[in-house]
Amino acid sequence: MIYLDNAATTKMFKECVSEYEKYACADFFNPSTNYIYGVDISKALNSAREKLLAKLGAKKGDIIFTGGATESNNLALRGSLRKGWEHVVSLGEHPSVFNLAKELENDNIIKFVPLQKNGQIDYEALEKALNSKTRLISVIHVSNETGAVNDIKRISKIRDKICPKALLHVDGVQAFCKIEFGLDDLGADLYTISAHKFHGPKGVGALYVKNKQSLKSIVFGGGQEYGLRSGTENVGGIMAMCCAFEKIDVKKNFEHVKKLNALFKSKFSGVQGVSYIETESPYIISLSFSGVNGETLMRALEKDVVVGMGSACSSKKAGNRILESLGFDKDKIKSSLRISFNAYLSEEEVAMAAEIIAEKYKEVWEKVK
Ligand code: PMP
Repeated sequence: MIYLDNAATTKMFKECVSEYEKYACADFFNPSTNYIYGVDISKALNSAREKLLAKLGAKKGDIIFTGGATESNNLALRGSLRKGWEHVVSLGEHPSVFNLAKELENDNIIKFVPLQKNGQIDYEALEKALNSKTRLISVIHVSNETGAVNDIKRISKIRDKICPKALLHVDGVQAFCKIEFGLDDLGADLYTISAHKFHGPKGVGALYVKNKQSLKSIVFGGGQEYGLRSGTENVGGIMAMCCAFEKIDVKKNFEHVKKLNALFKSKFSGVQGVSYIETESPYIISLSFSGVNGETLMRALEKDVVVGMGSACSSKKAGNRILESLGFDKDKIKSSLRISFNAYLSEEEVAMAAEIIAEKYKEVWEKVK
């Protein structure tokens, strides 16, 4: 079976499993204890924080370890709320931002900004939505549905012009360890990552925070993680996540995935009824297969090739919201599938997967036409 749903999750690196085991079985101590063994674990966590800051390209700021990106996004949005201020959120966000924003919409503290046809945020509409009461702007870095890459630097410049005090939160789940960037250069104040999207374990992630004073805790307890995320840290998970990002050569992987992407698309050049949108991240392709239901094709393929139906953790409605912004009609949305690569796939595997998909599409289409 060839797995092409790496935007949903990735296979853990073997080294990370060993690292997890080390901190689960040998060095299992609680990092908040004061004896030497606990202090050593706390030092290991702090060293992981430093390494993550370096990998993100951030000279200032801190890392809050969390239970994954959903939690990081909730901490960023809820933790920064202040009475009388507004949040501005793009319509292209993952449900962990979008659905929370919908909750907050009832209190009139949210403004939504539409997307352009290329899947990026509408920068002019964003500019119009901002004002001196804007507390936070939340924008996804790479869309988990389409692979569109938002120009974060441009957004931070718009923020500096209109509301310099506003925080810029970026959901970087599909960007970190995949595309090259430096956080200091981007100008983000808050940045979300999730370990299982780059071959680390599930249920662990982080929120980068430029200035800890800008957030308030949303979980109360023992005061771990600078008082911003109480609860004993998932030490094994964090150390395994650190092992994963240290192993990844972002530039080399990007070049390889670019080749995989081009090769995959080339296999569909003569296949009628298949179309895809060109976006900037080579890791994700949103394809539509005219005349067939995406879910039917996905199931017909699943023994040989695993593909995604769009965001695995989103409702179908959320997928619609993003594909609709690209101008897709209902039928096109229904016939869409998401292909997402990892950098350890070979060209042979990707070529074979594309051929199988093209073949199966013809078979399913013959049956339903
Ligand atoms: N944001 C984006 C862009 C994602 O793709 C995902 C995972 N589908 C999440 C947030 C949620 O991540 P997690 O599974 O770590 O909660």
